[in-house]
Amino acid sequence: MLLTPADLLRERGLRVTAQRLAVLRAVSSEPHLTADVVAETVRAEVGSISLQAVYDSLSALAEAGMIRRIQPAGSAALFETRVSDNHHHAICRYCGRVDDVDCALGTAPCLTAVDDMGYEIDEAEVIYWGRCPECAANESSTRSPTTQPPMRRQQETSRQESDRRV
Ligand SMILES: [Zn+2]
Ligand SMILES: [Zn+2]
Repeated sequence: MLLTPADLLRERGLRVTAQRLAVLRAVSSEPHLTADVVAETVRAEVGSISLQAVYDSLSALAEAGMIRRIQPAGSAALFETRVSDNHHHAICRYCGRVDDVDCALGTAPCLTAVDDMGYEIDEAEVIYWGRCPECAANESSTRSPTTQPPMRRQQETSRQESDRRV
């Protein structure tokens, strides 16, 4: 039997609120969303909600292990509902595209550190930085690498590039 999102919140000892449910729905709608985008999605659904309230819901859900927060260098935090499988991320330095990358071998091998220094390790955060296939295929791209998230990408720049490609 499938548990509803409200059941899942209760199961994790979280109070069920319309905001938390809306935030959870927003995060599950698309992987690797920023809090800003989550807020926009939630606003479209439940009307006004402060960014702070969105942050509060995101931290409560992350603490309860229902969503995962990744923090790439130079980017806003990204949230996703794919949790507990210790998957990694590949991020394009050029356009900011983010993809899920499974752990290389079996289950979470990178949780086994050569020397864990006595820590009880429960997560390994790995980000593979590079160039996505689309940016690699775009030979006319003269843009220098950036760690900016995709939404900062300027419309102007991409238009010039598509002109050059023709
Ligand atoms: Zn790219
Ligand atoms: Zn992911």
